[in-house]
Amino acid sequence: MAADPKHGQGTHRPELSVAKNLFFGEIVEENLFPYPELRAKDREVLGMMVESIDDFLKPREKAFREYDTNAHQPDEYVQALRDMGLFGLIIPEEHGGLGLSNGGYARVLAQTSSHDSSTSLTIGAHSSIGMKGVLLFGTDAQKAQYLPRLASGELIAAFCLTESGSGSDAASIRTKAVKNPDGSWTLSGEKIWITNGGIAGLFTVFAKTEGADGKMSAFIVEAGWPGVSHGPHEDKMGIRASSTTTVAFSDVRVPAENLLGEEGKGFKVAMSILNNGRTGLGGGAVGGMKQLIALSTAQAKDRKQFGRPIADFGLVREKIAQMTVDCFAAEAAVWMVAHYIDSGMDDYSVEAAMSKVFASDAIQRAAHEALQIAAGNGFMKEYPYERQTRDSRILSIFEGTNEILRLYVALSGLKDVGTQLGGLKHAVSDIFSDPIKGFGVLSGYASRRLSQRTGFGTDKIISQLSPTLRKAAEVYEKSVVELANASDAVLKKYGKGIADQQYALKRLGDVGIDLFVGLCALSRAASLETSDKKNGAQASRLAWLFAKQARRRIVRNLRQLEKNDDATMDEVAGFMLEEGRYPWDVI
Ligand SMILES: Cc1cc2nc3c(=O)[nH]c(=O)nc-3n(C[C@H](O)[C@H](O)[C@H](O)COP(=O)(O)OP(=O)(O)OC[C@H]3O[C@@H](n4cnc5c(N)ncnc54)[C@H](O)[C@@H]3O)c2cc1C
Repeated sequence: MAADPKHGQGTHRPELSVAKNLFFGEIVEENLFPYPELRAKDREVLGMMVESIDDFLKPREKAFREYDTNAHQPDEYVQALRDMGLFGLIIPEEHGGLGLSNGGYARVLAQTSSHDSSTSLTIGAHSSIGMKGVLLFGTDAQKAQYLPRLASGELIAAFCLTESGSGSDAASIRTKAVKNPDGSWTLSGEKIWITNGGIAGLFTVFAKTEGADGKMSAFIVEAGWPGVSHGPHEDKMGIRASSTTTVAFSDVRVPAENLLGEEGKGFKVAMSILNNGRTGLGGGAVGGMKQLIALSTAQAKDRKQFGRPIADFGLVREKIAQMTVDCFAAEAAVWMVAHYIDSGMDDYSVEAAMSKVFASDAIQRAAHEALQIAAGNGFMKEYPYERQTRDSRILSIFEGTNEILRLYVALSGLKDVGTQLGGLKHAVSDIFSDPIKGFGVLSGYASRRLSQRTGFGTDKIISQLSPTLRKAAEVYEKSVVELANASDAVLKKYGKGIADQQYALKRLGDVGIDLFVGLCALSRAASLETSDKKNGAQASRLAWLFAKQARRRIVRNLRQLEKNDDATMDEVAGFMLEEGRYPWDVI
């Protein structure tokens, strides 16, 4: 679905993934510029919603501390969330929801997260993953049956994939569903660490439907059915008030009509839900960072040491500036991905993974630094810093660990790019089957593209950028060609064995993430330069700062593909794994 990019609605080339093309030395600028705007309808709903969320959540700071200590959200509080319509955010209006876009939804989660992460998780696990399967894959009958009750929050939803033996390796689940002669299924197994497990009325459950090594299918399961139960509330490090429990299925009869999506396509259902839901997590991270920035600037101005506000000191200012650059870049990437989803882009999975990795790492850095600015106060439970530090820690663990997602980014970038450019498909697949024959395809293509151009992408875009942003654009244009060259060299060196070269993949993934996030920040700054007369120039400064920092990381990552300590690191890890303990002691 291509819409007019001038209006920031729809992507111009929905068939092209920006992220995957970076590995080919190509910046798909049509899908980056102009920076997308929220739909007018979303703005209208959000205007009212953001205010009522603040009115409702702001006075509850003390209560959130209690919920955190007691590791429980009281029933009346969950009811109040229902009453505010927070469980129906992305459900279409015809089914009783608010019908927000992904961008609008992420904005709501940013607002709730600026007050309390556990609240965001209760709402977010319901919408982002718990009931998203019904929206994406549900039949009309399933939608009609469940969406109205999900929208009102009468049914809160949870997503049941993880098991004790199956975390990152989601395909290895043991929960099974056996088909009965009447077409119904008998479901048995146990899921662990299920968000909303203790309060959910509906579960999206993944089970093997063809033996232990067979395919997976997805099911809609009601909590009230015989054989469904949940364990006690887990005692967690962070997001303590949000419900996390085991969920057990003991010979549960699931009607045939509650199969979700096609039989045997459950893995695809799970991955589609997770990809589609990542902007909720990203929006939450951005909201948390905004809260930390506000707290830190206030603290830096109020707190005096050595006769001056600590805001005068370079080492405090550096932290505030870095939080701001990170927040600006994360926000730009998260809303760009939300727009890709909303505009019907064919494949946004790599961009979604990139935005999740960047935003989740960024909020953890911000929480660490904000606590450091508040120092002793930051360490006290009376202030929100320590809770935010604990709460944000989960973000690089769930919905795909950041390690797995970095590998996914790099491998998808290297492998799938051939499918993006039809004519070169065979040549690129040669890289994997015959590295020598395939060598040169990426770098040859990238340099040809470069020599055909006079500047960043088409002349039109570069000529419209301000001098500051033009400099940033040049950084990305140079770096993207280097990424293509490096990808070529790595593929030549390792061929198919690249899948096992995790040190190299992490570096390539990180280069891709810096490029994508940086380009989103560049695009957002370009829009703000014209739309925000007051702060637009500051936004460009942030985009330029990000570009310079990204360039230093990119140079380091690319250099380390050649010159590194990987072998020694591996040997040290091998020695320690053998030893099992730190063997040196001073006595
Ligand atoms: C609070 C909380 C809420 C959760 N909510 C839900 C939920 O609602 N629904 C649900 O289904 N699940 C949920 N989960 C589970 C979560 O998604 C998993 O914890 C996550 O997928 C990681 O699995 P794991 O913890 O078993 O780690 P493992 O997969 O055992 O990984 C351990 C470490 O090894 C690394 N690793 C693993 N494989 C590789 C590899 N191939 N290469 C490199 N590194 C690797 C990982 O990155 C990680 O650092 C939740 C977890 C928590 C803690």
